[in-house]
Amino acid sequence: MAEVIRGKGVISGIAVGKIMLAGQNLDGYLVHYKAGSKEEEKEKARAALTAVAENLRTSIERLKKQGMVEQAAIMEAHRMMVQDPMMEENIMAKIEETASAPHAVLKAAEAQAVLFEQMADEYFAARAVDLRDVGKRVAKFILGVKEPEIGDEKVILCGREIEPSVIAGMPTENIAGVLLGSGSTTAHAVIIAKARAIPTIVGLNKEDRIDKIKDGDHVILDGERGEILVNPSAEERARYDERIRKQQELAAHYAALKDLPAVTPDGIKIDLMANIGSHMDVDNALSYGAEGVGLFRSEFVFMGRQDIPNEEDQFKAYKEAVEKCGGHLCVIRTMDIGGDKPLPYLNIPKEENPFLGYRAVRISLERHDLFLPQLKAILRAGVYGKAAIMIPMIINVAEFKKVKELIEEAKLELAHEGKSYADNVQVGIMVETPAAAIMTPVFAKYVDFFSIGTNDLVQYTLACDRGNASISHLYNHFNPAVLRLIRRTITSAREAGIWAGMCGEMASDPNAAVLLMAMGIHELSMSAPSIPRVKEKLRAVSSIQAKEVLSDVMKMEDADEIKAYLQKVL
Ligand code: PEP
Ligand code: MG
Repeated sequence: MAEVIRGKGVISGIAVGKIMLAGQNLDGYLVHYKAGSKEEEKEKARAALTAVAENLRTSIERLKKQGMVEQAAIMEAHRMMVQDPMMEENIMAKIEETASAPHAVLKAAEAQAVLFEQMADEYFAARAVDLRDVGKRVAKFILGVKEPEIGDEKVILCGREIEPSVIAGMPTENIAGVLLGSGSTTAHAVIIAKARAIPTIVGLNKEDRIDKIKDGDHVILDGERGEILVNPSAEERARYDERIRKQQELAAHYAALKDLPAVTPDGIKIDLMANIGSHMDVDNALSYGAEGVGLFRSEFVFMGRQDIPNEEDQFKAYKEAVEKCGGHLCVIRTMDIGGDKPLPYLNIPKEENPFLGYRAVRISLERHDLFLPQLKAILRAGVYGKAAIMIPMIINVAEFKKVKELIEEAKLELAHEGKSYADNVQVGIMVETPAAAIMTPVFAKYVDFFSIGTNDLVQYTLACDRGNASISHLYNHFNPAVLRLIRRTITSAREAGIWAGMCGEMASDPNAAVLLMAMGIHELSMSAPSIPRVKEKLRAVSSIQAKEVLSDVMKMEDADEIKAYLQKVL
């Protein structure tokens, strides 16, 4: 009999596969690490240095064979850092000072990184990032946290915390499922998994349940029930085969909806678009019937690498996405760094409240060296189809006016450089702060569109951290305060003759989609696999019925009452 572990299922579907422990944030692992004697810790550290150097050597050979010369050179530099006698000496000294092996490795790497950072030479200063990376790599080896590798076998990624970039960096066909210790429906790692329809369970840090799952275990992951069967027997597997067959039948039913429009029985058409994190996601999005991209989270182009992508690199990614949308709109959001999406190489000091801190457009407006190349890349990509620029985390009109000035500056620079660009790219904002939602009648004079980001709008309106599992019962998009801000935004757009859409996770809730349709929304953008479910619902409910439901809902006082009522009537 398998051991059954329970968590919160956030992406449904059944996955069967082998566990691979993953994740870059080591805090959770470090807390649970049990250190031995000083001699034992030293031995572990030495063995880890040797093994990591050996692994790097193998990777370098493989990269060279694949012609990936640049990556091979970076890995070679990392190998040299691992084998630097000074590194070993520093680690041993830290262990003497009572640190455990993984702590000592991280501390030694950090101390050396700080020294590099202080060097006047830009090249050496930039190597600090590599040193920290190397430190993490060795610490991970000691903690038994594997580096995700692309193999032939499908794996189930499992970790106390897994950064979005880890999932984004692996091909979909290699990930069968995801098990997360922390996180919630709107955590970015989960959002990426959702875009790829990867069954996912979160909340396994509770009572340290995650520790019962070991690297290499065979598991069945049931995303609907939030259940994990560790090392199931043959009979248990057979029981799941029937459910896997039903899952395949449902997928076939949804696939048949692909080319049908999202039109209500009385003829109201809603554009259903996809949220993506990479230009490589567009084909998958179109396969679910997406009519373009309503949110390209461009920050993922910046993540999972050692340095800032230049204008040319970004241009290639955006151009491909815009081209693949084939005449449909491709809304590219400028980088939304900060919150739960840090960018180590920007060296932003640690903040008490990162979700309320130096993030998104606040960084862009200060760091023109980052923002202008991004704007130029999007404007250039616009030549190859229909691109739009969307600005995240806006709280006042002054910010938007500055953005518009910078867009003009970007165009001037492009003209000087003789590069062609699209002059008619739409520029809109994310409505994801209460301030923006309240001020939409004013914003509507300046912007081409609104896209409501409920993941953050709910968080900021209800003062409720979107990633905190212990308050997830309060985090609800049907809260009447949230619904009023959404209705206000859509009405402001309608009155000004611009379009309003939604790209937060609420858009993928079929019952919510009916309410939004009644409010007059033009577009809904979501993880592509959710499109068929939402489409099916919209095709079944007339706008007249939806308006009656909306009128009832707006008289209700409580989110749970609204949710239950919608479930009953829709
Ligand atoms: C949102 O906040 O609703 C949104 C779509 O943006 P993100 O989830 O990337 O913060
Ligand atoms: Mg947001």
